[in-house]
Amino acid sequence: MATIEIRGVSKSFGRVRALDDVSLEVRDREFVVLLGPSGCGKTTLLRVVAGLEWPDRGRVLIGGQDVTERPPRQRGIAMVFQNYAVFPHLTVFENVAFGLRMRKVPAAEVRQRVERVAALVHIEELLGRYPAQLSGGQRQRVALARALAVEPEVLLMDEPLSNLDALLRLEMRAELKRLLMELRTTTLYVTHDQTEAMSLADRVAVMRGGRIVQYDTPLTVYQEPVDTFVGGFVGSPPMNFLRVRLGPSGADEATVVEGAAIPGPAGAREALLGIRPEDLQPVPAGTSGALPCRVVVVEALGAQQLVTLEWQGQSLKALLEPDVAIRPGERAWMRPKPQRIRWMDPVTGEAMR
Ligand code: ATP
Repeated sequence: MATIEIRGVSKSFGRVRALDDVSLEVRDREFVVLLGPSGCGKTTLLRVVAGLEWPDRGRVLIGGQDVTERPPRQRGIAMVFQNYAVFPHLTVFENVAFGLRMRKVPAAEVRQRVERVAALVHIEELLGRYPAQLSGGQRQRVALARALAVEPEVLLMDEPLSNLDALLRLEMRAELKRLLMELRTTTLYVTHDQTEAMSLADRVAVMRGGRIVQYDTPLTVYQEPVDTFVGGFVGSPPMNFLRVRLGPSGADEATVVEGAAIPGPAGAREALLGIRPEDLQPVPAGTSGALPCRVVVVEALGAQQLVTLEWQGQSLKALLEPDVAIRPGERAWMRPKPQRIRWMDPVTGEAMR
């Protein structure tokens, strides 16, 4: 059972608290992505699991074994890091074969396994070259192939696709997911690219300031962000947050948004109405539950139109079908899908219950 358990880990560099009491469990064969903005502690957490960084406090368990005091090579893990360290004096073939040779895998099997992962990451043509003769993206793929060749039970990856161009990145993302499912590898993967996180992860841990703020499936994180930070960081363009005032609706305790007949959270006087750009629908003028907006900018993206609107002096964005007729300067009534509204506390930024 290749599980990863991180228990109450803290780590500071001088006065910088990189990790602040982080706990996280990765199940056997699960693909977990650490997602967050630059400097939130993702890499540090991965390095603590790898044994490249000592935590000030807390424990790390791999496969149920406490490995906190063990050096990296005794943790039963493989890793791929951003700087794709490859051996400059070895050919690509020997780089990829390295871990297999260390494990005394028979030569015929080494060749077979190297060729298989080489095909997977599209470096078949490069096996005879030396790292100095490769581009950054090619070197990154060699590093990836080397880690995958040993078919590790636990794989740690830090932005392994960051140096690839957009198309190759998309293709490798799908290949990687398929392969790791096939190998039944338990994976902890760092990225700041939320699309990559959403597409790869069984569960996403969103980090901010050395803490995990939400840990759940990509869909739940997307649809039910715990606060405005997560709602703003996950999703592109980010979730809209409109500051609204609420008034009594007549019914007991119930409230509605002032200026739009949208039912609000009971008892509140002010709130943030959180709504994803794709959950705003254009509706006929005067429709109940809609916001009377002014159209500011319309951007044709091909598959969709990205529309910037203004409502009561606040900016919001909507993603609409490409054939919806909408022009800057016009008025447009936009209805947030009621079941998709996420109410947030205007002071704490946290989801209201
Ligand atoms: P990025 O996406 O930019 O790589 P990250 O989320 O991986 O960011 P970390 O590299 O884990 O973030 O860094 C977390 C914090 O710890 C940052 O404030 C960083 O400057 C600091 N830090 C990391 N390593 C060191 C170090 N060796 N010495 C001093 N400070 C460090």
